[in-house]
Parts: sequence; structure tokens; C-alpha cells
Amino acid sequence: MYKPEYYSAFSCSAGSCADSCCRAGWLIPLDPETFDFYRTLDSGISENTFTDPDGDRVFKLRADSSCPYLNDDGLCTLYIKTGGRLCEICSKYPRFFEEYDGFTETGLSVSCPTAAALILSQTENPYTDLRRSTPDELLDFLCRARERVMTMLFSEPEPEEALRKLLYYGVELQELIDFGELELLGEARFCSYSEPDIDLDGAKKFILENTEILSKKWRELLKSGGAKASAGRNERRNYLAYLVYRYFLKAVNTEDILTECRFIALMYLLAETLCENYTEAVKLISREIEHDAENVTALIEYLAE
Ligand code: SF4
Repeated sequence: MYKPEYYSAFSCSAGSCADSCCRAGWLIPLDPETFDFYRTLDSGISENTFTDPDGDRVFKLRADSSCPYLNDDGLCTLYIKTGGRLCEICSKYPRFFEEYDGFTETGLSVSCPTAAALILSQTENPYTDLRRSTPDELLDFLCRARERVMTMLFSEPEPEEALRKLLYYGVELQELIDFGELELLGEARFCSYSEPDIDLDGAKKFILENTEILSKKWRELLKSGGAKASAGRNERRNYLAYLVYRYFLKAVNTEDILTECRFIALMYLLAETLCENYTEAVKLISREIEHDAENVTALIEYLAE
């Protein structure tokens, strides 16, 4: 399993977390094995869960969107009662896993404020081990291209310039894919556009009208026109690198690396203009977009049009 260098440094802040995932408003499905185990305890698990339309057993949220098992100290009462036995999703969070042909990648999601602080504070490139062995020709092409992007990102002093170069590179890579010339990867260049070709206001309107929105705060920030984030180059570069690590290879499913690069650019630009607190912005974007596969798909389709 491949992971970024900061991965093992993560540790949940639990009761001292500034914005616990247990208050995020997510409907968390409980795997059947853990559900059966909780039923053997005096846990109230049957009353505190319900079966959703997909047939999954999910936790009923309180009126304030928190998990029914979150106690006043910010701790999970199921965790305390069982000595640490959590359902599959809760035990893995904030880790994400991506399965590809021949390998698996994992990482930490910036939806968790502790993970976000760790990721955004990196001072060196933590994505150095990006060579992958795969029988899939397009995936191999994308892996090698992503490695070049990371090298460019961590050698370019201005993250905005790196973003422009990424978008230009996406155009060049897309041409190679469309013409079946993957062997010419070395000829793709990192030039820069004058400005990223992303209509941010149009995208915000699309998100408001076409995606599922969990929090009032997210809705209000999208409507308000936001505020410029006060973030240094390092934090912005680290967020861009996180997005590249997480999304670049997904183009293997669509053969559309240009739209994937545009999606990365949109997330990056949204974070810069959502609110002053950059960690809060990337966390909100992640909770509202990244953690909802349908929202991601809707935005990818919007950007591909
Ligand atoms: S958001 Fe992160 S640090 Fe906070 S409780 Fe959840 S996993 Fe722990």
C-alpha cells in the first residue's frame, strides 16, 4: 500500500478536536458485523440506527447533526464501551483508499482538521514515492505524468503559476491520450496559461443548485461571494499537491485528464476565495464535495461540458 510520508504522523485529536467528524452531519453506514456485535451490548444500537433506502444500517443523527454516540467530552461512547471497537468507516476515517490496477494508494482527507493541519504544514515534498507497477498502459502514463507534476509543484515558488502549468500540461496530456501517443509523454510541456480557464462564480452557482449541501455554513459562504483566504504559499502549494495526489490518477476511468486537472483547479481556487481561514475552507470543501461521490461526479460532468 502506497502512502504519503506524513501518513503515519496522524493521530486523532479525539476530545480536543476543534471540529469533530462526529458532528459533520454524515450518515455513516454501519457494517453488519459491527452492528451485530453492538447488539450484544447494552448500546441502544437498534434505536439509534435506521435502514436507509440503499438497505444500509446508518446512525440516526441528532437535531444538531451530531452522532448519537458523541458524548459531552467529544468522545465516542461506543468506543469507550467496547474498548475501541468501531465500525469499518469510523475506524478508517480520515484515511481514504484508492484501488488501481496492480496497487492501492491511501492518504488522509483534509476534511479532518487535524489531518488538514498536518498536510498543509509540510515543508518538503511528501509524495516522493510515486513510481507504480501496473499492467495498464494509461495508468502507467498517468503515474509517470503525476510524478512530473509533483516535481514541478515543489520546485515552482508560486502555487498559482504551478496551477497554470498544471492546466497547460493537462491539455498536452489529453492530446497524447486522444491520439494514442502515450509513449510521447516526455514531450508534454509545463507552460502557463495567462489565467486558469475556470468560471468560479458559475461553479459556485452550479454547486448551490445541483449538489447535496450538508451545512448551512457552506451554503452561506457559496452565496456570499466569500473572502480571500489568508494562507501562505506553502499551505496553498501543499493543498494543490494533495489534490493532485488524490485525483490525478482517476482519469484512468474516464480517459479525461484535462477535466481531472480542471477539477483540481476548481477545488484549489474555491479554497482561496471561500473564507479567510484556509484550513476551514479546505475542510468544508472536502466534507461537502470530496466525501460525496455524487457531488464529485456532478462537478466533473459540469467541468467536462
Ligand atoms: S475530525 Fe479528525 S481529529 Fe477530529 S475527531 Fe474526527 S478523526 Fe479525530
